[in-house]
Amino acid sequence: MSVATETKLIAPHGGELVDRTGERPDDLESLETLTLTSRERSDLDMLASGALSPLTGFLGSDDYESVLENMRLANGLPWALPVCLAVDEAPTEGRVALDDSAVLDVEEVYEYDKEREAQQAFGTTDDAHPGVARLYEQKPLYLAGRVTVFERSQPTFPELALDPADTRAEFSRRGWKRVVGFQTRNPIHRAHEYLTKVALETVDGLLIHPLVGDTKSDDVPAKTRVECYRVLLDGYYPADRVVLSAFPAAMRYAGPREAIWHAICRKNYGCSHFIVGRDHAGVGDYYGPFDAHHIFDQLWPGALHTKPLKIDVTFYCRKCYGMATAKTCPHDPQHHISISGTEQREMLSSNADIPPEFSRPEVVAILKEYYAGLRSTRQSPAS
Ligand SMILES: [Zn+2]
Repeated sequence: MSVATETKLIAPHGGELVDRTGERPDDLESLETLTLTSRERSDLDMLASGALSPLTGFLGSDDYESVLENMRLANGLPWALPVCLAVDEAPTEGRVALDDSAVLDVEEVYEYDKEREAQQAFGTTDDAHPGVARLYEQKPLYLAGRVTVFERSQPTFPELALDPADTRAEFSRRGWKRVVGFQTRNPIHRAHEYLTKVALETVDGLLIHPLVGDTKSDDVPAKTRVECYRVLLDGYYPADRVVLSAFPAAMRYAGPREAIWHAICRKNYGCSHFIVGRDHAGVGDYYGPFDAHHIFDQLWPGALHTKPLKIDVTFYCRKCYGMATAKTCPHDPQHHISISGTEQREMLSSNADIPPEFSRPEVVAILKEYYAGLRSTRQSPAS
């Protein structure tokens, strides 16, 4: 045993990686079975793998209240978003089956106020917000209790499905201690590539961790995004410095609170650092561009261990001849190449040229193919 050479990754949130996988119970046939929404299924699978450590199940009312009011679990540990299971009525027995894949030992059934949760978690009660809309559609009661998962969800991308224990093993094998995590639900263009590389300059390795659970219908689907990530990594990143893996969570679009939640999850995957970009996990104009940066300052020092790397908007500057931010470039914005998400969709849909300063040609090619497919679907007559 060479203890001296053992690498030390950051400890999981709460100290131990939770494992809520287990055996299929004998009494399964006799149990009432609840059907989960796809968001609840994502959460269940993350409970199983320890991605939501220290949670062992869906939140009880003490934790729920504390999370909404103080961004902490009842035991004081930071936790930014509710992880709850909504039901129509209280189960009659003390144990229920979840979707033929898990059992939950009932600890509590409680009422909750949807508008209050919306205000606290999302900062708005507007039902045009996709996260709030989903909350308002939920069943009226929360069911709390420890889960045991005997059948894991089929991963959408089996070759990218790494549990926290797996990413930790991989980081250790590579001798990494300081690892930065990058959350994304979009194709990676030059601006975000730059962000990850600025971060990578200061640590041992980079985990590109695209979210592959539910997203809004106008986000680029995960399958197309994964193709983009692959060509980008093949062409522009050193293979021995980067791990690409899928993050199985569903998007909540809770902006600042979700940034903290994302950072905590990535801590469980072994990330000592986490990139928080402009309008992290935001949608529409519900959050200020740097709200997700500021919220980390509301946590007390040492609360999180995983360090947020707050990075400004990045762009290509024709005068600098390179990628830059307002922190590093003195030139007028007219020299910057920046294309908004909406402009980008229009340019890709109409097969317009996207400058290589904005996005790598290999990535653009894949996206153009995707948007061409959308166009032909729209134009083909209904049959
Ligand atoms: Zn410049």
